[in-house]
Amino acid sequence: MIDKLVIANRGEIALRILRACRELGIRTVALHSEVDRESKPVRLADESVCIGPGPASESYLNIPAVIAAAEVTDATAIHPGYGFLAENADFAERVEESGFVFIGPRADTLRTMGDKVSAIATMRAAGIPCVPGSDGPLPDDAKAVMAAASAIGYPVIIKATSGGGGKGMRVVHTEAALLNAWRVTRREAQSAFGNDVVYLERFLERPRHVELQVLSDAHGNTIHLGERDCSMQRRHQKVLEEARAIDIDVHRLEALRAACVDACGVLDYRGAGTFEFLYEDGQFFFIEMNTRIQVEHPVTEMVTGIDIVQAQIRVATGDSLGYRQRDVEIQGHAVECRINAEDPGSFLPCPGQITQYHPPGGPGIRVDSHVFNNYVVPPHYDSMIAKVIAHGANREQAMRRMSGALEEMVVDGITTNISLQQALVSDPAFRQGPLDIHYLERRYTR
Ligand code: ADP
Repeated sequence: MIDKLVIANRGEIALRILRACRELGIRTVALHSEVDRESKPVRLADESVCIGPGPASESYLNIPAVIAAAEVTDATAIHPGYGFLAENADFAERVEESGFVFIGPRADTLRTMGDKVSAIATMRAAGIPCVPGSDGPLPDDAKAVMAAASAIGYPVIIKATSGGGGKGMRVVHTEAALLNAWRVTRREAQSAFGNDVVYLERFLERPRHVELQVLSDAHGNTIHLGERDCSMQRRHQKVLEEARAIDIDVHRLEALRAACVDACGVLDYRGAGTFEFLYEDGQFFFIEMNTRIQVEHPVTEMVTGIDIVQAQIRVATGDSLGYRQRDVEIQGHAVECRINAEDPGSFLPCPGQITQYHPPGGPGIRVDSHVFNNYVVPPHYDSMIAKVIAHGANREQAMRRMSGALEEMVVDGITTNISLQQALVSDPAFRQGPLDIHYLERRYTR
């Protein structure tokens, strides 16, 4: 049993975890940096601990500070949210060695799936189709790299095995550009992720991003909660997500779901997880697995009625899932717009003070956000300030509700991407759907 849980994160996801705990009767400890002292999760949690200054490297990524905070507050468990330490195997290990429950998969699973090269090898062995590529890390040998790229065929994408958040990737269209791109990507990966191992994949030109949510307990039970389409992206980062993924043959989906559920068995998986795929010409290609709660989990919650964060907490303590596959019913359609403090044309972050904040409401609308009037969006972290989620009986109703919600929403004082989201949701091509992962940048970059 968990009676007190440390939230090792900030912003909307810290609040989301806090709300799940409240419902489960678990007390909360909000960890925060100096700049987040006045934040909403800190105000609402039962206790809070300051773990360092603004820069994440000195606070939210500071493993000894997080563990020490759990010790001094006599907590039982630590929820890492997403980003920061969520997929850090060393952290998960330290948490468990220190006697706390880590809300997530076992450390060895994080290690295998956190390295994209070993994740792909594991998935391939489990029978999951992957993007044609270098089948492993590229050697430190220019000739071999050239040979690998020509064997795959241009364009190719160079990816850092430790990459994440859309970083550590570079598309190469011609042989002439390959070696320079290879060197630059390695250098960037080394400085961003402390690991310069890179691999090659064929760059798919018109795929959709389709992912499958799974939930596993420690007793060998796994269920899936259906797919999400996250094709609306900029800089390889998601902007709008929806559940379900439309226009995919149901037999193909069934085969994919069965393969992913089986793969969880092979991995002896525990917790919430997402298998990410590119989908092109009727085929799925695995790209990575996220071993944590994802930003876009609400769309799945809206169509299934299952609280994924509560499920994460329950299975981490050894409880069984409490759901069988036949209990899961996908109802209607849901869409999520990420509202970011950023320029809608250049996608550059625009932190600052929010002078007026009015969230939308009404039937089928959910807003996950930590901001309020006069809140200052700090420059240190991700620019996301809110997630607006709309649920409807079908896709058309969900989109209409979203459009109304975006119309109602007021965020003054800073620049946001609300106008971009509104344009996208009203875009006839988007409304007709489905579109590929490059559509948003093709149509909306200024
Ligand atoms: P991250 O861990 O940074 O999220 P992913 O491997 O999940 O990286 O890829 C993020 C996005 O980058 C994908 O959703 C897709 O838009 C794009 N991408 C990744 N691999 C490929 C590929 N082989 N071809 C085309 N686009 C790709």
